[in-house]
Order: sequence, then C-alpha cells, then structure tokens
Amino acid sequence: MPLPPLQPLDPQKALPAASSGQDRKHLIPRRRFVRDQRRHFGFAVVLPTVFTLSGPLWLPGAWLDWHWAALGLLMWWLVGCWGVTVGLHRLYAHRSFSAPAAVRWLLGGLGSMAAQGSVVYWVALHRCHHTLSDQEGDPHSPSPSARPGQSARKAFWQGHVGWAVSHDVPKPTRYAAELLADPVANSLAKHYWAWVWAGIALPAALGAVWVASSEASSLAVWQGALIGAWWGGPVRIALGHHVIWSINSVCHRYGSRPHATTDTSTNNAWLSLISWGESWHNNHHASATSARLGRGVLQPDIGWWCVKLLAALGLAKAIRV
Ligand SMILES: [Zn+2]
Ligand SMILES: [Zn+2]
Repeated sequence: MPLPPLQPLDPQKALPAASSGQDRKHLIPRRRFVRDQRRHFGFAVVLPTVFTLSGPLWLPGAWLDWHWAALGLLMWWLVGCWGVTVGLHRLYAHRSFSAPAAVRWLLGGLGSMAAQGSVVYWVALHRCHHTLSDQEGDPHSPSPSARPGQSARKAFWQGHVGWAVSHDVPKPTRYAAELLADPVANSLAKHYWAWVWAGIALPAALGAVWVASSEASSLAVWQGALIGAWWGGPVRIALGHHVIWSINSVCHRYGSRPHATTDTSTNNAWLSLISWGESWHNNHHASATSARLGRGVLQPDIGWWCVKLLAALGLAKAIRV
C-alpha cells in the first residue's frame, strides 16, 4: 500500500522552542554516546581523510584524470545536492515541500551516503541548531557566545569539526518526533551503514563499467573500480564534510548579513555552487521553512532548481517559498 506523503508542518511547530540554552532537558548527555560518536568519527571522517590523502601513493594508473574527477563530482552532486541539501535539509528537516514515499526514500538514502549520521539524528541535530542558534546548546555554533570560555579561534574550529567528535544529542522525541513514526525514515535509519557503503560501491561500479567499455583486461577493470571508489567514496565524503561543516562555521562567522536575524548567520557567494545553494545561510535563517535559499539570479541555488525539477515532474508538492 503506498504511504501517504508527509504534509508540511506548521512553521510554528516545525522548530520546537527550547526554554533557554541552559535547559538541558532537550539534550541526551554526550557520555551516553561517547564511544559511538568517536567510532563514527573514526569511520566517517578520519578514515576517508586518510584514504584521500594517501591515495596518490597507492592508486594505480592514471587516477588523476578529469574523467575520474567528473565521477567524484557526479557523486557529490547526487549525495550533497539531492541527498543532503534537497533531501535531509529542505525535505526532512524543514518540510519545505512534500513528496511521495518513494522520493523521500531515495533522497533520504542519498543523504545517508554523506556519512553524516542517520536521517532522524541529522534532522534532530539541525532543528536544534535553528532553535538555539548561537546560544549555549547549539550543537555546532562557531560563536564564542555559544561556547563560554573559548577563544574565537577555538570556537570556530569546535563549530567546524570538533563538535562531531563528541556532543550532546538533541532528543529525537522532541526534535524529530514525526520521523520516529515514519516507516521511511525508520527504514533509512536502520540501514544507515548499508547506504554509506552503497555510496562507495556505486562509483566503484561506474568506474568498472567505464573502463570495461574501452579495455578488455580484467586487471584494468578492477583498477577502474578502485579509482572510481576512491573519487566517489573517500574523496567525496571527506570534501563533502568540509563543505557542509563550512555552512556551520564560515556561514556563522564571515560573510554578509542582509537580514538582521538574532543569530550570527551569513551569506557567502563563493561557497554557493559547491554547497548547492546552502551558503545563502543568512537568508535561510531568516526564513527557515522556504525551499528556496538563494534570492534572484545573482544568488544561484542549485538545490532550489532541483526542487523545481521535482515539482515539474509532479514529485514535489506544497512547496514553501
Ligand atoms: Zn545556521
Ligand atoms: Zn536549516
């Protein structure tokens, strides 16, 4: 039986209010997750970084070729744009449009390939960021006001990457309650690591097929799979982390602020293409439920163009702008 699409939330209810940054009741203390979080950081951040940096030492053949870089970019478009920006952020976290269950499943699966945690965790963390932006309790604020006792430089790096090693977890029952009752989100969360591995297996398969189309040797095909897995796996994951983390760090520290929001969010044009429109972050904080982050032709927002494509195909409805 087809599942009914999730309807957009009332904007007032989409982002639950916390009474204050000192109110810890909405957070599960980090000590409960410290081992899991360090293990996740090791597998999802440290290992991809090590493989990325060491690749030139052990990769075979002509791995530094624009065809391979294009495969990495294709994977970053599928995962970073369709998965993270359109799926996890605009569809799941902000409910800025509604989509059929199959579309939600595919976008959530692509988002899971980013190795940034399960859909339910990602949404709860992100809604908590909006609720407590740059106050104590904001999981990844780079602002010293959210991190008492830390210098501006330390707060920046803590907001960029340090938080991911160990942090209090916003309660899904408070921040993502509707997803706990959603079979699609539950299935995606249950098979989170399978999606992460699929995000490496897919470029490996594409690399093998591409080489096989011009080379007969099975060794060359295996080498193609390895190079494809490297570009579309570790390289795409490691760079993807830093792009998304830059929205948390750079786009809460440097850049322009056309909207006088109560947080420190900023717009950064130079990050807009590689972040698929996410770096119009001050616009986003000013109107968080809008599916469109860029304003006008001078603020390219590729994620928004994807939402419009889905709408043209009849796969996105009730779009908020
Ligand atoms: Zn923000
Ligand atoms: Zn958001």
